[in-house]
Amino acid sequence: MDFAKVRELIDRSNNIVIIVHTRPDGDAIGSGLALKKALEKNGKNVTLISPDPIPVFLEWLPGAEEILVFSENKADAKAKLEEADMIFIVDFNTFSRAGTLLGEILEDYLSQKPVVMIDHHLQPDKRIPYIFSDPSKASSAELVYEFITNTGLVEQLDPDIATAIYTGILTDTGSFRFDKTSGRTHRIVAELIEAGAKNADIYSKIFDTYTYDKLQLLGEAIRRMVVIPRCGVSYIILDEDTLRKFNFKQGDTEGVVNYGLMLDGVKFTALFTEKPGEDKIRISFRSKGDFDVNRFARKYFNGGGHKNAAGGNFEGSMAQAEKTFLSKVKKHCDEIKNS
Ligand code: 5GP
Ligand code: MN
Repeated sequence: MDFAKVRELIDRSNNIVIIVHTRPDGDAIGSGLALKKALEKNGKNVTLISPDPIPVFLEWLPGAEEILVFSENKADAKAKLEEADMIFIVDFNTFSRAGTLLGEILEDYLSQKPVVMIDHHLQPDKRIPYIFSDPSKASSAELVYEFITNTGLVEQLDPDIATAIYTGILTDTGSFRFDKTSGRTHRIVAELIEAGAKNADIYSKIFDTYTYDKLQLLGEAIRRMVVIPRCGVSYIILDEDTLRKFNFKQGDTEGVVNYGLMLDGVKFTALFTEKPGEDKIRISFRSKGDFDVNRFARKYFNGGGHKNAAGGNFEGSMAQAEKTFLSKVKKHCDEIKNS
């Protein structure tokens, strides 16, 4: 990316909108908030729009209360987008990941306003003129760090920016354990801690704040896990009734999918959820090693993501979703087992 050129665009802008993806996670919110603060330090009027509400485990982040939730306040969000001199899209690679309506609005603005993407997913939408994308990075937050330092937006990190970036890196690296966590990641993290990110405190606020229902739901999910040892596959189904029984709230299934990979010999796992009020099945995929879940999700479940972490959707009943999944697993059984 031509940082000087984007810096020039920023300098010429007064009103800037940042958009993150649907069902935002720690990386989306952390990246969005860090970028917002960095731009505000340079006198910009910045609005961070999230398509969906902020999950409870991220509400404590400095500035989270200022996020404009599109699904709750479409008129304000549309007005901010209309006023915007430039738009940043963060932690997603195609407009549809901002949701149908917001995605269509972005589509219209593409020819009218500069759009900058900061992201780490595969296959970024090439029509976007300014792309800062690196799928070898474990988080968008790491890229936001590189972006705000390379553009000179931030000379000295402050505790709020450091906390937001730390949150993005911590959550998207699975607490620094995933493959893409690099020496560079750790060097940035060292700087964040020195700049005031309280690492133990942040971890605790994110991971030690389960409600009783959320922890019980996790227990139920683990109990229901189905294993196909022959293929190195496991999966969990959480239907609408189960989620209701545990008073499901946004964010309650966060991280559940990872438990499927804890079994020795399992290389590929999936979590199916049927969220109350949604008319489709959401699926999360995770893998260890070579099996490419981005490809699997794209090919069979109208989704995508990264090689080892992806999501998808299924229109139809849970039973049909499971049946489809099982037939595809059967097809790829040897490939998964040997990955
Ligand atoms: P999760 O399972 O946590 O929802 O998503 C895992 C990864 O896959 C995330 O990086 C997310 O951005 C991506 N992802 C999730 N759902 C979708 C989807 O429907 N389409 C695409 N392209 N990516 C997705
Ligand atoms: Mn991310």
